[in-house]
Amino acid sequence: MSFLDDFRTMSTFGATPGGGVERQAASAADGETRRWFGGWLAEQGFRVEVDAIGNIFGLLELVPGAPYVLVGSHLDSQPLAGRFDGAYGVLAGAHAARSVRDRAAAEGATPRFNVAVVDWFNEEGSRFKPSMMGSAVHIGRLPLETALATTDPRGVSVADALDAIGGRGEFTGLDVSAYAEIHVEQGRELEATGTTIGLVASTWTAQKLEVVVTGEQAHTGAAPMADRRDALFGAAKLIVAVRELIDGFEVEQLHTAVSEMYLDPNSPVALAREVRMLVDIRSPRQDLLETAVARLRTTIGSIAAEARVEIDIVDVVEWSSGPFLEAGVLLAGEEAARLGYSHRRSATVAGHDATNLKEVVPTVMLFVPSVDGISHNEREFTSDDDLLAGLDVLQSVLYRLCAGELETERTS
Ligand SMILES: [Zn+2]
Repeated sequence: MSFLDDFRTMSTFGATPGGGVERQAASAADGETRRWFGGWLAEQGFRVEVDAIGNIFGLLELVPGAPYVLVGSHLDSQPLAGRFDGAYGVLAGAHAARSVRDRAAAEGATPRFNVAVVDWFNEEGSRFKPSMMGSAVHIGRLPLETALATTDPRGVSVADALDAIGGRGEFTGLDVSAYAEIHVEQGRELEATGTTIGLVASTWTAQKLEVVVTGEQAHTGAAPMADRRDALFGAAKLIVAVRELIDGFEVEQLHTAVSEMYLDPNSPVALAREVRMLVDIRSPRQDLLETAVARLRTTIGSIAAEARVEIDIVDVVEWSSGPFLEAGVLLAGEEAARLGYSHRRSATVAGHDATNLKEVVPTVMLFVPSVDGISHNEREFTSDDDLLAGLDVLQSVLYRLCAGELETERTS
């Protein structure tokens, strides 16, 4: 089956009427996609393994005992999401890994490294926070037990949700020499510049602040206005403050949002006693992010006083900005040029599993264009030509990584 045929088949799992997919982590639709993917891998001669946090690995051992070059992305999605985000990278990675095996055999070449494809569990972080969970556990940044005990808004743990789809295994000890990932851009730069391939050279930094606003439950009608300690009123002021935080910064140097909110008791006739919300702040520069968060903390103090509520930041998840390995950017640029595709250096605003992996192994990340930059939306779209161009470059890059070229660059 061709890549596009496989991609069309894969896009039927969790398909939504609007042309997208809904496959939140460890949901039934995620389980169906994972099972189909595991079956595809087995059919193509991969050894399929699953680790304790539900990451799926498809291994092709070409050089017994050698470390693996890993390639992949994630099969889970946001609610009402596009069908390309993550899923494209997993399937392209699988096809690319297979091509490395077939090309090495055809050329009678022995690669230096083995190759494996991975579906990282819960990259999206919509059902279970934080995002990029499977890759964070893999690199040792998030303890396995903490991840497994994390609950969704209904109180279901990651462990139970994974068990419900038969998604937990015992695989350990994969020795990874390099990582590659391809993803849709989720921005407009490639399209606006008429470029086919983005060479990801840097990533934005982000802080996700979990905030609890505490007031006092009271009657919406009877309570005198002066007595009210309305948690939702405090939360509303905070939402506005988060949005207005950008006013003090240059255009596109700061992105802010309040993305999630739960309130108790959520009754038509009671003032909220508690609101829990997620504040998402990002910048290409660490110093700007820190300035923004410091300003927000000051503003939180005055909002709490004005609204007569308490506002606590109970958790902060952060990833730092930083460059991707320059030798990897150059290597990917060489392959794009050799194959005749326009290309340019890109920065990723979104976090990716590559953001985690690049902290521990040489990592190459590629983008293909997103029409109108639409993302986390059913209307997300990338053309077939661009999907195939990305796969073409990924295959060549992966072949060179398996030949140990980036390793040589890194240690020379
Ligand atoms: Zn993604």
